[in-house]
Amino acid sequence: MSTTTQNSEKTRPTDNLMDGTGLARRLVQQTTEAAADLLRRTGTAPCLATVLVGEDPASVTYVRMKQNRCAGAGIRSRHVALPASVSTAELVDAVAVLSADPDVHGILLQHPVGPHIDERAAFEAIAPEKDVDGVTMHSFAAMGFGLPGFVSCTPGGIMRLLDAYDVDLAGKHAVVVGRSAILGKPVGMLLLGQDATVTYCHSRTSDLPALVREADVVVAAVGRPRLIAGTDVKPGAVVVDAGYNPGNVGDVDFETARERASLITPVPGGVGPMTIAVLLEQTVTAATRQLGLPVGG
Ligand code: NAP
Repeated sequence: MSTTTQNSEKTRPTDNLMDGTGLARRLVQQTTEAAADLLRRTGTAPCLATVLVGEDPASVTYVRMKQNRCAGAGIRSRHVALPASVSTAELVDAVAVLSADPDVHGILLQHPVGPHIDERAAFEAIAPEKDVDGVTMHSFAAMGFGLPGFVSCTPGGIMRLLDAYDVDLAGKHAVVVGRSAILGKPVGMLLLGQDATVTYCHSRTSDLPALVREADVVVAAVGRPRLIAGTDVKPGAVVVDAGYNPGNVGDVDFETARERASLITPVPGGVGPMTIAVLLEQTVTAATRQLGLPVGG
């Protein structure tokens, strides 16, 4: 996926809030039109396969929400529900069947899959051209090398937001707090690809506030309510809060940070809506490529 935003996505803020809800709505609208166009031209609607292991209520809700959003955008869903007792080999087989099925264009394996399963092995059974959630080693390497491929959806959504608000990253000091494989690490790689100077922070970082105070761009990806004090935000910095904690609270102390930031994402309504929008967009892109048509053509 390209992280360069179409002109129609450019957003002029009326205050210093980055409106992820509005941007995601526009991106989903474009994706819906692309899915309809694909159906008209090929007779095939894009199809996202979702794989769920067990019945964890949060995971069931996430998967259902993704299926509903797919339906709204003209993307078909295929659901594979597996018992919590499934073995790694059985899960790998189920994913491999979807990878080989020409009627499935994208695959989403809902995380977590259970402690007894080798999650990496299951993710790696996703064919790279169907990895619309950007979870395979192939996708991660492509992101790192700056090569075409599917990006991890939340980092991809963050980059779209920054681009839509014309945040020039070249030469800026970006401090990424969090280093998970789906969020912190890839967003740092994407920021580096846009010529930011990137510092990663994590639970062993010795003086997080001092590093945050030096940041032109802060990306919070931790899952600790209000870990980042607004008073540590450099005046004029851009603050992206991917954290989502109980009570609709982010990782940044929003009210105080907002007084100092030039741009800031709200929680909710900032990064969250962008994640699913990127998933839908990448599914239609995958289908377009697999059906032999040029993307964006
Ligand atoms: P994760 O896998 O638990 O990773 C959390 C990261 O934060 C780890 O790298 C950890 O460091 C670091 N960390 C923990 N405590 C810290 C501290 N006191 N100081 C500095 N760093 C600390 O979480 P994740 O999956 O990346 O998710 C992070 C947050 O983003 C969560 O709130 C999650 O709900 C949210 N999220 C939102 C979306 C969305 O669509 N908006 C998508 C995914 C995740 P170590 O590596 O040293 O343990």
